[in-house]
Amino acid sequence: MSVVEKEKIETFQNFVNGKWKRSRNGATFENENPAVRGSNIGLFQSSTPEDVREAIDVAHNTFRPWRRTPLAERQQYIAEFLRLLKESREELARVVTLENGKTIKESRAEVDSALVEGTYHLNQVSAFYGHIGPGSFRDISTWVQYEPVGVVGVISPWNFPMNVMSRKTLPALLTGNTVVFKPATFTPWSGVFMTQLFERAGLPAGVFNLVTGLGSSIGNVIVDDPRVRAITFTGSTEVGKKIQVRGSANLTRMQLELGGKNAIIVMDDADINDAVTATVTAGFSNGGQWCTSTSRVLLHRDIAKTFLEALVSRCEKMTVGDGISETVDMGPVAGPQQFEDISKAIRQAQADGAQMVAGAAPGDPKGYFIRPTVFTGVKTDMAVFRDEIFGPVLAVCEFGSLEEGIELANKSIYGLSSAMFTKSLSNAKKYIDGIEAGLAHVNIHTGYKEPSMPFGGVKQSGAGLPENARTGLEFFVDQKAVYIRS
Ligand code: NDP
Repeated sequence: MSVVEKEKIETFQNFVNGKWKRSRNGATFENENPAVRGSNIGLFQSSTPEDVREAIDVAHNTFRPWRRTPLAERQQYIAEFLRLLKESREELARVVTLENGKTIKESRAEVDSALVEGTYHLNQVSAFYGHIGPGSFRDISTWVQYEPVGVVGVISPWNFPMNVMSRKTLPALLTGNTVVFKPATFTPWSGVFMTQLFERAGLPAGVFNLVTGLGSSIGNVIVDDPRVRAITFTGSTEVGKKIQVRGSANLTRMQLELGGKNAIIVMDDADINDAVTATVTAGFSNGGQWCTSTSRVLLHRDIAKTFLEALVSRCEKMTVGDGISETVDMGPVAGPQQFEDISKAIRQAQADGAQMVAGAAPGDPKGYFIRPTVFTGVKTDMAVFRDEIFGPVLAVCEFGSLEEGIELANKSIYGLSSAMFTKSLSNAKKYIDGIEAGLAHVNIHTGYKEPSMPFGGVKQSGAGLPENARTGLEFFVDQKAVYIRS
């Protein structure tokens, strides 16, 4: 890239107390478009611990006036934010694709999902408040009063850079909390864009604050501060565990949405075409980089051959390229680290003796492209069966009975999402009762979700109250038991 082009690159700033600010040491980091290796689409602040502390100070001081702001007024800000989000759909989708790599259609779907969820919380919050009833005695009234917890730390990953933060931030603000937000280093632009929408919506200064920078250097500052009363984190299980341990020093409330190794179980009576479509959709959308993506495909022995032929044929037809093109089926993976990690996992699966029946050595060297990859002959002690790869790689196993299929699916430290394809109600019920996962789908792919349903994992896929649904609001409030004698 020439010096002249470099000069045109925009520098984005932190947003603290309603003002755009540089980090104290003036250091920045580059943001690369994963479809174009070596590119730089913007410079972002490498915040210092002092920058983060200042954002927490501001959020702490703003909490009192913000919690007293009438709910209807808070709703108006969020309604305006959502109006602006809808208006900015195309522009924001472009930003997401440029920095994350997913296709433009997937980015539009991400914005739409944030709109649906945001509208749900906006409407639901009115019904959420207000439980009042008579006490045990005639002259005593009781009620549970929901009060905001205070400053909330929002730490989000790069794979859904705007939807995950909005699913956390909107209910936090609606329930009267102030926020310090740290986006992932791979996707800070989407975070800045969302912040600009809050600014344009007229949100009072200090209610929402953004600090960019490396999680490993500034994440602890958010987690360790006793004034941060709740952390809502989405990311890897490894980092989630560290945050849980550190936050326990102050008994900080935690909502941890973590990794997964989600299985689809395909029974011998399933509609094979639908099951293959579900596998392709949940296995390869967003380059397989979503927490509820399908990564293990468990096939009843009697339909395994037919299913695999159809799956491999679908994989071979998929186009992989720059996500900004309207016709591409799958974009690059998010960056050099993901490319290296996924490539290593593929090499490991081959070394362990699994057979690669779809996928190939990475093609176009221009970007971080990996073709849809399928391994058969997978054993349960192989890394490809066990570890979250977070890329477009499927591990296929066969089973002979329903019980065996469910047992295979449960053979994981994770328990986020799952699916079964079957025409039998009895199979479906046994699967729903037996599966160890936060989400159970029958004849629907593992990535499907609705805002009125809780979104969270069991086992090492999550801790704390799930996002969305009623719990998505409940996480952000303290419950005060009130008794009045009158
Ligand atoms: P990471 O855990 O690496 O990072 C997530 C966020 O945490 C980033 O903002 C990161 O900052 C920050 N972070 C890193 N280290 C620390 C630390 N010590 N203290 C505080 N914050 C820190 O995950 P990825 O971004 O790689 O996201 C992929 C993971 O997210 C996958 O495991 C996936 O399964 C999971 N995920 C789970 C979802 C769910 O709902 N269950 C949904 C989506 C993804 P930085 O970027 O600067 O390193």
